[in-house]
Amino acid sequence: MTNKTHDIAVIGAGPAGLTAAIYAARGKYDILIIEKAVVGGTALMIDNLENYPGFPEGTKGYELAMKMEAQAKKFGAAFISDDAQNIKKENGIFKITCSSSSYLVRTVVIATGSKPVKLGVPGEEKLIGKGISWCATCDGAFFRNQPIAVVGGGNSALHEAIYLTRFASEVFVIHRRNEFRASPYLQDRLKTNPKIHLVLGSVVEKVIGEQKLEKIVIKKVADGSISELNVSGLFEAVGNTPNTGFCKDVLKLDEKGCIITDDSLESSEPGIFAVGDVRTTKLRQVATAVGDGAYVAAGLEKYLSK
Ligand code: NAP
Repeated sequence: MTNKTHDIAVIGAGPAGLTAAIYAARGKYDILIIEKAVVGGTALMIDNLENYPGFPEGTKGYELAMKMEAQAKKFGAAFISDDAQNIKKENGIFKITCSSSSYLVRTVVIATGSKPVKLGVPGEEKLIGKGISWCATCDGAFFRNQPIAVVGGGNSALHEAIYLTRFASEVFVIHRRNEFRASPYLQDRLKTNPKIHLVLGSVVEKVIGEQKLEKIVIKKVADGSISELNVSGLFEAVGNTPNTGFCKDVLKLDEKGCIITDDSLESSEPGIFAVGDVRTTKLRQVATAVGDGAYVAAGLEKYLSK
């Protein structure tokens, strides 16, 4: 640990955290960005971001994230590869303890996003990385000319299913209800894609395979009838859970574990702010994450000028 006290630590380098860093570093604050994995967050999983303003042809999530990283560095933000474990306040200064070191800061911006939920069905753990995946952009190409399934009915599931038709011979979309919650434009594309077959009102009961996934056992919700689907891949897109384990004892969270913030995006602990998917919010988009990152700059400035 160094004894230096920094103005701001941003924990998490997805679009929300990177934008907070760009604004704060441009405002001449001394800022650290602590990221445990790869800069870009869930944006890295977006093959073609079609609704981010300024890109009429769409943009790749990782390209946008790389530009945001370069912009934050240009203004002087320092990137640190470490994994936050807890935050404690001592004499008005926050101490962030990470796996490798500790950091002293006056304010904290939590931008740790969320991680995908697992189905929790028998056979799943054994077949992770052997057919079961949560990232079509990362793993889709492994399933060229093979039948695969996607489970879920939200924007992520439909995006993944449509993207995966580039590689797979056919894509089965398994959803527990008969209606999708995904945006209508995605539903239109899904329904007109000849490679996609809908398996509605159905849930995955278990997954079977020895060295790799071989088949999925599916149960019809209405009558409990069971069927099997031979697929080599299963992409799970059944929602996300916020990455708030390291701060759950310090901050007020909602029933889903998201950080509750006020109008300034400040949490229940003065000086700790939260932006993007990790906070309680109605809309989770790259554009809204970026909006949070910009918006939090005013709250940080107010707190630091006290
Ligand atoms: P989501 O909107 O929460 O959808 C999760 C889906 O999984 C729902 O259809 C849900 O079914 C189903 N599900 C949940 N638990 C299940 C279980 N145990 N078994 C079977 N199915 C289950 O999650 P998401 O699609 O990952 O999206 C997360 C957020 O990111 C949303 O705010 C979304 O709008 C946003 N996002 C936006 C875009 C975009 O705008 N292009 C792309 C991706 C994500 P029910 O519908 O029956 O509840």
